Amino acid sequence: MAELPIYSNFTSHLPGEETTSPHPHQVENAMWSEVTPAIASRPQLIHTSANMAARLDIDFDSLGDSAAQLFTGSRLMPGSTPYAMRYGGHQFGNWAGQLGDGRAIALGELNDSSGQHWVLQLKGAGPTPYSRQGDGFAVLRSSIREYLCSEAMYHLGIATTRSLSLCITGDTVPRDIFYDGNVTHEPGAILCRAANSFVRFGSFEIHAAHQEHDLLKSLADHVIRNDYPHLGTPSEAVYLKWFEEIVQRTALLIAEWQRVGFVHAVMNTDNMSILGQTIDYGPYGWLEEYDPGWTPNFIDQQGRRYSYGNQPSIGLWNLYRLANAILPLADNKPEPLKEILDTYDGIYDQAWKKTVANKLGLVDYAGTSEEHTLGDDLWQTMTQTPTDYTVFFTALAKTVNGNLSDVDAIYDTISESFYDSENVAIEVQNNYKKWLSRWSKRIAGQPAQETIKLMGATNPHFILRNYLSQQIIDQAEAGDYTLLDQASKWVQSPYTASDSEYQKIRPKWATTKPGCTMLTCSS
Ligand code: AMP
Ligand code: MG
Repeated sequence: MAELPIYSNFTSHLPGEETTSPHPHQVENAMWSEVTPAIASRPQLIHTSANMAARLDIDFDSLGDSAAQLFTGSRLMPGSTPYAMRYGGHQFGNWAGQLGDGRAIALGELNDSSGQHWVLQLKGAGPTPYSRQGDGFAVLRSSIREYLCSEAMYHLGIATTRSLSLCITGDTVPRDIFYDGNVTHEPGAILCRAANSFVRFGSFEIHAAHQEHDLLKSLADHVIRNDYPHLGTPSEAVYLKWFEEIVQRTALLIAEWQRVGFVHAVMNTDNMSILGQTIDYGPYGWLEEYDPGWTPNFIDQQGRRYSYGNQPSIGLWNLYRLANAILPLADNKPEPLKEILDTYDGIYDQAWKKTVANKLGLVDYAGTSEEHTLGDDLWQTMTQTPTDYTVFFTALAKTVNGNLSDVDAIYDTISESFYDSENVAIEVQNNYKKWLSRWSKRIAGQPAQETIKLMGATNPHFILRNYLSQQIIDQAEAGDYTLLDQASKWVQSPYTASDSEYQKIRPKWATTKPGCTMLTCSS
């Protein structure tokens, strides 16, 4: 068996519980708990990310049968001290106390060829002290969703944790998907994911809540030394610069989510990466009909706290919680942190306005109010008839090469993004045409190739629509991984046009099918 040179900076430099009771308990004065992953009955590797494997120089073929054992935690790699991380968090606006890795177990770290360190973490490898009422396991359904979506996000060019491998365990896991008392026994799975760090906003909040100020400082120092080394040796001034960068990364990440219509759907502070990456893919979704109030999260249908349109302001709300937690690092003076928080809206707005300009192909965008109104009026128009956010922009880009003064022709092309194209009121048709006429006049003077290039690099053709994931899941649960394999290729070239049915609007049958638009947190 080839050996992976795994090590653990996190556990060797930071305090943890070394021998741990697997029973759920409150942990004090520690950042991690040593845990032993459960042994899977019949572990089987079903997919690997070639891109991530190459980056980590892992040759799954040469690992043979041991690959499935190693990447389910059924066999430990030499040098690995598996551990679960302690963290807390605000969930749906309320402090939830200790959460922690209830079903994630880190194996340790590996360096890639550029010297970048990556933590490998198994999701679904059994109970930990943080499992609370959960069983510590994960089902194939949710594991496929996270496995594919992290890679989709990466290839869209958006900061994210990564997927390395997906295994099934050979065991079943009971789940009550709709919380209605109907329990099904689903196939168990384990995702091996990778990130430079899995530290979350909630990792700091738990130490602040427990007045563990020495741990708070050690964790900040560790994150800065390992993942923000360009900021220099930790000091009070460096903590502020660090917070400034977290604010910036978070604002820019969310502007990127908005660009592609990604709705995370559970933006609790325990799901906010300290690196500003997308983390913890649960009941996420991709905007289909443009609607700022949309969320795929079944349990958030009332409040819509984590809807598409709320994501930017929730990002700031979460940063406030982080600022409160790290206040002791800023000598308990709130003003400098508040000043940094006050920059969030400006950073986000500027990024978003530029993003909209890019989506519209405004090559010589100058930041004028006229340009911004063009964007704002489009959002207004798009809510008048169900319009697919992704297909609208790819269709619009197709018209750039045509006759830009033929508004009817442009309208015909973009109407492929309409979910109810037969029944668009004349008034709405006219509103669209008025808008299209303004847009086409605005871009008519630009070199078409530049417009097409800009729009093509900003507007994806392929997004991982929930109804596609559901089809992949249905197949995989029956032991067929053909569509999983195909989709893992599609996610690698999201900006390339093809005639795939998955680059079109969601078919009618998928509107009401469970898992195709709306999801629960059951995983
Ligand atoms: P999530 O909503 O997946 O981000 O999870 C919130 C918290 O619940 C985290 O502490 C998770 O580790 C924990 N959790 C979620 N599912 C399970 C499970 N099946 N077993 C144990 N803990 C879980
Ligand atoms: Mg989570």
